[in-house]
Amino acid sequence: MGFFGKIGQGLKKTRDSLMNSVSSVLKGFTRIDDELFEELEEILVMGDVGANTASRICQQLRDEVKQQGITDPMEIRTLMQKIVSRMLEGGQELTLTTKPSVILVIGVNGVGKTTTIGKMAANFKAQGKKVILGAADTFRAAAIEQLEVWADRAGVDIVKHGQGADPAAVVFDTVSAAKARGADIVICDTAGRLHNKKNLMDELAKIGRVIDRELPDADKEILLVVDATTGQNAVNQAREFKSAAGITGIVLTKLDGTARGGVVLAIREDLQVPVKFVGVGEGIDDLQPFDPAAFAAGLFEEE
Ligand code: GDP
Ligand code: MG
Repeated sequence: MGFFGKIGQGLKKTRDSLMNSVSSVLKGFTRIDDELFEELEEILVMGDVGANTASRICQQLRDEVKQQGITDPMEIRTLMQKIVSRMLEGGQELTLTTKPSVILVIGVNGVGKTTTIGKMAANFKAQGKKVILGAADTFRAAAIEQLEVWADRAGVDIVKHGQGADPAAVVFDTVSAAKARGADIVICDTAGRLHNKKNLMDELAKIGRVIDRELPDADKEILLVVDATTGQNAVNQAREFKSAAGITGIVLTKLDGTARGGVVLAIREDLQVPVKFVGVGEGIDDLQPFDPAAFAAGLFEEE
């Protein structure tokens, strides 16, 4: 594991693309002026950070440069790292204090929900927690089988029905099993593709009602999984799900395969939803709790 650890490796493509551009801009200036900030802002927008967030970062840069009397363009990089780290801070911890607690995992097809659940299950198990998975993506038989493979791999229990079964009924049974077996954490998979968006949202609402009714006092996390390689699309999905499903956090997957890791900032700042995990590969160990400082370091520090 190199100097940066897993998150730094996962961010390599983003760092290479973003930091090459930032460095070459900074090298082109001998003093700090408006033009420098404008060029930086442009690079951040192209790096999927989002227009609003890019402008906010540059405004803070301007303020701090002034306050601290900084004159050397080469000091801007460290300053950006600090600003980004601060922006990402807050709300990244999961709240799972009750026994059981529930994590509902939602998101469109192919973003990495089932894989993320497998990785999370292994993580919690390693912390000594008793985990039970609910195969509430009943849309395709393969989805249930895939979750079973992950349950095996992680060494945790799974509750499943047949293909086409009512997902809310699967969730009901999973919660009942969790109570009966004294599980600490219930993690429910869901389908990402139904005939239309209203259908999907109705189904998620129904699942939510079952959980609220069966476990009124339990801690619940509704995690939206989005795929970093889709850039601004991931931001749009987060916006839609936030308004329809009341998400508590984001899991950003496939950071390892993309230069578009800047979307983390767009999601955090524009939507005010905390990122709780990042996926940096397909393996069971490739899910990291989101660490703002490590993330910012992975973006800005020189190798
Ligand atoms: P779902 O439809 O949302 O349940 O998505 P899946 O969990 O089936 O994942 C879709 C594909 O994305 C699979 O091939 C996964 O191995 C892959 N995947 C998931 N997370 C990551 C990640 O963090 N990095 C990479 N490189 N691939 C991932
Ligand atoms: Mg799936």
